[in-house]
Amino acid sequence: MSVESNDTGSTQTGALRFIDANWHDLRSLPEPTETFRHSDLDPDAQQHFKKLVARGILVSEENRTAGTRKAAIWSTNERCYERLQKRLDEEEDGFLPCGHDPFKNLGDGLLKCKRCGKEHDKEAVRCD
Ligand SMILES: [Zn+2]
Repeated sequence: MSVESNDTGSTQTGALRFIDANWHDLRSLPEPTETFRHSDLDPDAQQHFKKLVARGILVSEENRTAGTRKAAIWSTNERCYERLQKRLDEEEDGFLPCGHDPFKNLGDGLLKCKRCGKEHDKEAVRCD
């Protein structure tokens, strides 16, 4: 397992916690090198937009824009993006046979993956 670095301020700690709790909705956040507008985000990410901004997960690029026009252009905080990728990587180790984690219990010993929609026999699921 990787070791957490301790260079995070309190704001970033809140940001990372938010990512841990909501990474399923944030999987499409663009790489830190890309800039984007609110409308470029998918609806899952858009619903968290204000919180993402408040926590510094999305960084305003308007200061880097020449002129007085307030450009609503954003980029993803690099450290937050790394955290998100880490969460997405871990998803591949999910306990369902398809490699995912979240599931819906269909009853009759069937579990349905919330990610890819595959149905799995409970018997086939790894237990901790
Ligand atoms: Zn799946």
